[in-house]
Amino acid sequence: MKLYLPLLLTLGLMTANAFAQQQVFKGATLYDGNGGEPIANSVVVVEQGTISCVGTDCAIPESAEIIDVSGKFLTPGLVDSHVHYAASGWFDTRRIFPMLREVYDLDKAQDYLRQNSAELDRSYLCSGVTAVFDTGSFPWTIALEETSVGSVEKPRFVASGQLITHDTHPAGKDVLRYQKYENTREFLPMGSDEEALGSVAAIAASGSSAVKVWFTPPAPQQADELRDRLSVIGNAAHRNKLLFIVHVETLKDAKVAIRAGADVLVHGVDSTLVDDEFIKLVTENNVVYQTTMTVLLDGVTILDLMNGDAPHFDDPNYCISPRTRQLVRDGYEKLHGPFSQNFGPAQRQALILSTGANIFRAQHNLKRLLEEGGTIAAATDAGNPQYYHGPSIYGEMELIQAAGVPAREVIVMATKNGAKAMGLEGTLGTVEVGKNADLVVLAEDPGKDVAAFRSITHVMRFGKLHSIADLSYASEKAVD
Ligand SMILES: [Zn+2]
Repeated sequence: MKLYLPLLLTLGLMTANAFAQQQVFKGATLYDGNGGEPIANSVVVVEQGTISCVGTDCAIPESAEIIDVSGKFLTPGLVDSHVHYAASGWFDTRRIFPMLREVYDLDKAQDYLRQNSAELDRSYLCSGVTAVFDTGSFPWTIALEETSVGSVEKPRFVASGQLITHDTHPAGKDVLRYQKYENTREFLPMGSDEEALGSVAAIAASGSSAVKVWFTPPAPQQADELRDRLSVIGNAAHRNKLLFIVHVETLKDAKVAIRAGADVLVHGVDSTLVDDEFIKLVTENNVVYQTTMTVLLDGVTILDLMNGDAPHFDDPNYCISPRTRQLVRDGYEKLHGPFSQNFGPAQRQALILSTGANIFRAQHNLKRLLEEGGTIAAATDAGNPQYYHGPSIYGEMELIQAAGVPAREVIVMATKNGAKAMGLEGTLGTVEVGKNADLVVLAEDPGKDVAAFRSITHVMRFGKLHSIADLSYASEKAVD
């Protein structure tokens, strides 16, 4: 009740909303998500959660509730097409580092997220994100998809569930062994064709919408065999009518993944500049290429943490929950003692230079791909330590813009193309008749600078208008 009471008391609008058959956004400058010229003084009519008219001369039904947005800007709800609900934004859910098992009860951390996914839902809506693609984690996340359909309180959710991997390396040969929670695994094997097919069958049976392969660079003696197996998995995913999405880390493997039928590359290429062959493969096969550039900075943010810098929250509207903030602050104390190291300025400088080079290549590659007609989706990898659910999308959009991509194109990447990555381009991602009424109201012009998404005042999810002031956790500040 605490969450909704102030909302009902302060906004007569909201109570009326529940009964109004139609709502009309009137007067905003509209960016519809297709990348064209904005529509000035627009009218958008919403009927029972769906957009029924868009333009300047829509008939306004007499009984409609008018939402006057003159002088403001309207866009589709943002789509973050790479997140992990089974990861908190901190190290307490990071099973990959064995040392963390001594500090955190990883199952308890997982229990918390499982029982409190509404906290992340609120962080997303508060940030203007009305749809998310959970690209891999424990199978409990899959159930979130069904409850998100037609929900006015949750972003539309699509999950890929368990990940398939050959990898046994990170921090100690035990990925398959330690990635367990409630007798399920986060990762499934692909040690033989048979085993890989079994993994796809398990994912299909779990009700997931996508099959994701976490394809870290294979050992040379296994490389050919494993690369061939990607096709086996891709074909099986498509036979089951599931999206096939792939994590790769090299240009060579990105090409292999596309030839194996990948629908989505869940990270951009940053280790090298892309070539003509790759561009052709992406465009001819209609692949969605995700950006995930902000998370490339994680080496630097972790080093700074180890060196004693306090954690930083880039969260203009206070959409990260007080619980998450506290978790990070406490965790910082916990980790700083046992694991702190003093990295000197030279080491930090070297890391910044190499990270900068990765981001430079990633920016160059996405710009080139855009110029050649590729489909690029803005995506954050939120859930990783210090990449928080919700507001992380702003920094990602700004890094894309900094690559020289016009703001209007960045909007397409963070709306329409994200919907395409989720396989939902027919349902959401643009402001068009028949689409979900998932909309964002901004005070500033996002067509000039995508930093304007930080000026969000309202978000509509499937016909329900929320004010950011109500979604924000600012009034519940426990600390700071
Ligand atoms: Zn990820």
